[in-house]
Amino acid sequence: MDCIFCKIANGEIPSTKVYEDETVLAFKDINPQAPVHVVIIPKEHINCALDINENNSIAVAHIFEVISKLGRELGLENGFRVINNCGEDGGQTVKHLHFHILGGEKLSEKII
Ligand code: AMP
Ligand code: ZN
Repeated sequence: MDCIFCKIANGEIPSTKVYEDETVLAFKDINPQAPVHVVIIPKEHINCALDINENNSIAVAHIFEVISKLGRELGLENGFRVINNCGEDGGQTVKHLHFHILGGEKLSEKII
C-alpha cells in the first residue's frame, strides 16, 4: 500500500520522532500550523475515524494516553488542541488515521 504514514512508521521515510512505542508513533508535522505541531498515528494502518472498531480501538485509546504524556513533555501544560480530519468532507489529506496535537501559543481559528 502506498501510504506515507505507513512508510514513516516502518522507517522508509524519515521523520522527526517525538515518541515511539510498539503501537504508536508521534512525529513533527512537516508543515507546522503552530509552534508545537505533532502528528500521532497508530503504526497499524487504519484509514480514518470511520474505520475505528472493537478490534483496533485499543490502539486509539493508547494514542490518547500518549497524548496526555506528550502534552506535559512538550511543555503544553497551558493547553493544546487535538484535531482529527476524517475523509473528504473533513479535509483529510493523508488516508492513515492521525491526530494533530497543536499548541505552544494561544490558538485562533476555533470552529467549535
Ligand atoms: P491531514 O490534512 O489531517 O490529513 O493532515 C496530514 C498532515 O500530514 C499535514 O499536516 C501534513 O503537513 C503532514 N505531513 C504530510 N507528509 C508528512 C511527512 N512526510 N512528515 C511529516 N508530516 C507530514
Ligand atoms: Zn498507512
